Amino acid sequence: MKKISQPAKSIYIGPNQRLWAMPRHYQRFWGWYELDHRSGLYFAKEASAEQIALIRANFKLLPQCFQELCRQWKVTFSFAEGATASGNASTFYADFSRQPDEYISPHIEIGSVSLRPETILAHLGHEVAHLFWRSRSESQRRAYRAFLERSCGTTCVEVTDYVQGYFEEYLASLKKFRQNKVHPNLHDGNFLRWTEESFCDTVATMLVGTHPDRSENCSIDVAERLVEMQNSLQLAL
Ligand SMILES: [Zn+2]
Repeated sequence: MKKISQPAKSIYIGPNQRLWAMPRHYQRFWGWYELDHRSGLYFAKEASAEQIALIRANFKLLPQCFQELCRQWKVTFSFAEGATASGNASTFYADFSRQPDEYISPHIEIGSVSLRPETILAHLGHEVAHLFWRSRSESQRRAYRAFLERSCGTTCVEVTDYVQGYFEEYLASLKKFRQNKVHPNLHDGNFLRWTEESFCDTVATMLVGTHPDRSENCSIDVAERLVEMQNSLQLAL
C-alpha cells in the first residue's frame, strides 16, 4: 500500500529553520503555526478565525499553481496590527540563499491595510507572486528581466505607483551607471528590485479587475507581459 504523508497539524519554526528571522523585530516569526485544513496553509497560533477566513476565501481565487506552491513550501502566515515588521502593508520573507529547502522557510505577513476586503486579493497575490518568482530558475528570471528591459522605455509608466517608484530608481541609476558615476552593485540591485516588484504587481493587477493601486497613467501592454510570463516563466494566468 502506498503511504500518503499527511501534512502536520502544527509545526514549530525556530531559529534553526528560520535563520533569516534573527534580527530582533523578525523574531516574532518564530513559534507555532497551525494547519488550516481547508486551505492547506499554516497560520500563526494567535491568528483569529476572521483573519484566517479572509485569507482562505481569497487564497482560493489565486491561480492553482500559486496555491500548490504555497502548500508545497509550507508557507506560514501571520498578521500585524498596522504595518508589517519591514514597514509595508504586507510582506513576503524567505531566504533562498539557504540549503536545503526547509531552511528557506517562506513566510507572509499581512498588515491591517492589506487585510481589508478591497485590498486583500491584490496584496495576497503580490506576496505569493514573490514565492513564484524566487522559486523559478535563474535562467527563467533572466529571460523575463531581459524582456522587461527591452520593452520598457524611459517614458513607460508601470502598472502601479508602487512599481513606478522602483522603475524610476532603476532609470536614475542607469543614467549614472552609463556615466560611470554609480557602483555596478547598486545599479544591479535597483534593476533586480524593479523587475521582481514589477512581476509581482503585474500579476496582482491581472488577478484583480479593479486593483486598488493601479496607476491611471499605466502605459504597459499587459497582454504582452502575459505572453512573456508564459514563455519565460511557464506561468499561465
Ligand atoms: Zn513585493
